[in-house]
Amino acid sequence: MPAEPVALINLAPLLSHAPGGPSEVEAEGELAPSPEELAKDGLRLAGPLSWRVVVRNTGGDDDLIAEGEVAGTALMECRRCLEDVPTDVRASFLYPTVYKPSQEADLALIEAPLVNVEDDLAPHDELAEDRLSVGSPEVDFAPLLAQVFAIDLPLTALCSPTCRGLATDGVNLNEHPDHVPADAPEPEAPSSPFDVLADLDVESSS
Ligand SMILES: [Zn+2]
Repeated sequence: MPAEPVALINLAPLLSHAPGGPSEVEAEGELAPSPEELAKDGLRLAGPLSWRVVVRNTGGDDDLIAEGEVAGTALMECRRCLEDVPTDVRASFLYPTVYKPSQEADLALIEAPLVNVEDDLAPHDELAEDRLSVGSPEVDFAPLLAQVFAIDLPLTALCSPTCRGLATDGVNLNEHPDHVPADAPEPEAPSSPFDVLADLDVESSS
């Protein structure tokens, strides 16, 4: 399946409420988020994201639940040497979802404190939940999938537990383990008059 910049799912069969209609719709695919989306989430990817979304009707008129997962490989900078580190991530989400055809946004995540200014009918135990709002039957989950994936990235990455990092002049010490930066303090001159003291110290401390 070719990667696409969108992750579309069509909710029309759920919303039609036809007798014998489905109680859930499902879609999956490979997502290659747009450059704008990647920039917004601070993401760099080694390849497309695999995704799957299921939207269920929970029995109310247009009360839905959207559940999904997204997996892929991000590129993160090693915190010591700044080389790219492929980092596997698998993330999932589950949100109550409302269908509001009049709104502008195709898909919006409404965070709990902003909810229910006008929605007096919602039970109180739902007031604290984040929820999704969809504006049309054909929904693009790409922004949400990219966002959920980005949130689950580790804060930092290491290319290897033994990464030597960078010298003060920026040289990668994994590639040049014997490199000494030009601005490093000079090693002691071999002809130092104190060499004889160093020899004495070794003997006296043993
Ligand atoms: Zn490294």
